[in-house]
Amino acid sequence: MAFTRKPWAEPYKIKVVEPLKMTTEEYREIKAKEAGFNTFLLRSEDVYIDLLTDSGTNAMSDYQWAGMMLGDESYAGSKNFYYLEDNVRKHYNYKHVVPTHQGRGAEHLISRALIRDGHYVPGNMYFTTTRAHQELAGGTFVDVIVDEAHDSQIELPFKGNVDIKKFQALIDRVGGHNIPYITVGATVNMAGGQPVSMANLIAVKELAHKHGIKVILDATRVTENAYYIQQREEGYANKSIPEILYEFCGHTDGATVSGKKDVYTNIGGFVAVNDDDLFDELRNMVVIYEGLHTYGGLAGRDMEAMSRGIEEMVRQENIEFRIKQVQYLGDMLVEAGVPIVRPVGGHAVFLDAKKIYDHIPQEQYPAQALAADLYIHSGVRAMERGIVSAGRDKDGNEYKPKLELVRLTIPRRVYTQSHLDVVAYSVIDLYQHRHEAKGLKLVYEPKFLRFFQARFERL
Ligand SMILES: *Cc1c(COP(=O)(O)O)cnc(C)c1O
Repeated sequence: MAFTRKPWAEPYKIKVVEPLKMTTEEYREIKAKEAGFNTFLLRSEDVYIDLLTDSGTNAMSDYQWAGMMLGDESYAGSKNFYYLEDNVRKHYNYKHVVPTHQGRGAEHLISRALIRDGHYVPGNMYFTTTRAHQELAGGTFVDVIVDEAHDSQIELPFKGNVDIKKFQALIDRVGGHNIPYITVGATVNMAGGQPVSMANLIAVKELAHKHGIKVILDATRVTENAYYIQQREEGYANKSIPEILYEFCGHTDGATVSGKKDVYTNIGGFVAVNDDDLFDELRNMVVIYEGLHTYGGLAGRDMEAMSRGIEEMVRQENIEFRIKQVQYLGDMLVEAGVPIVRPVGGHAVFLDAKKIYDHIPQEQYPAQALAADLYIHSGVRAMERGIVSAGRDKDGNEYKPKLELVRLTIPRRVYTQSHLDVVAYSVIDLYQHRHEAKGLKLVYEPKFLRFFQARFERL
């Protein structure tokens, strides 16, 4: 056999397996109809390869599982907390840490502590839970990401960067005293996992601090971001991931983290800050909403799994495999001519459903239809990120987002290259038969966040 490229493979071997139910296309057609052509309404046991999300769907290592047996389930002062604190200081470079049940718990605390009615909170594109907590605390979110992030085809190394001019314009308009902090997401989830450069973060910090504005990092996927800096930014090629991560976080005043992503756990999160008074307030507030400041809604074993996950996430072979596995899927699709969002980001490949099903008008939900067709074709579950997810405005009219996407999100360490071959094969086959595809009609629509529970029929 002749290789067309140097082969590479997973940096782990499999010790425990979770059998998958093998189903037929006829079976999946029935299940798709029962689920109203909505992948959120499928039972996971009917799914073969589940690419709905990379959140909390990670495979833990034997080292993490072994740590679970060392859970110190004391109410106060669990040794697992102190170990987590050590690892957050060592790798994320913050002085204080408050554990929370997951990322949104951390966002709740920091938003409440810093935002007052009438405040503005800029950020490099919104994230659903982050913005929700900022608004609940009385703030108004302002998007200050570079324009290119909203275009699916422009290839830029750091498409998640903050547009410094937009940030400056907001300061000029409302005054620095009305901006408690800027949220920098790295990588940017809603932009397709696009990274932020070190140089950009430094520019953000300098402008922010000049006006007394804090920089709060959404560090949920910051290790993926560190890898991109190592690969793409001048001066970082010979620096290690821990060095880059430490330096990156060092330019910020604090961070919120969902442990369900980079940290390879199924639950958990934390907020970390340098300021002693702010820490005091967060530590006091966590007692009301999450739990005592040494467990924050987590079991001791969960903190141990997070702590060990932090040690694993910074290893070059792990983060490199993570990014390259996503890239591998993206490359196969690009080679076959399938339109996807470019460049491929850190955690997912986004199919451009508007271009793939270009004969289906947006009012007939092309991305929703493509996600359903993909499930029926091969048992692969993806998520619609288009007109259905965007919902309706106050007058009841549907938002018509520019991007009509299907997200293939890759859980960490869960699937092999062979699984991704199956995914690529299926997407390419659907693409080649795209003209046979039909749109959908909405038959049931819930009032809030309709994408979770809406039901459709085929036209
Ligand atoms: C998942 C996520 C969150 C929220 O974290 P949860 O653990 O789901 O509450 C916040 N920010 C980003 C960028 C995320 O991807």
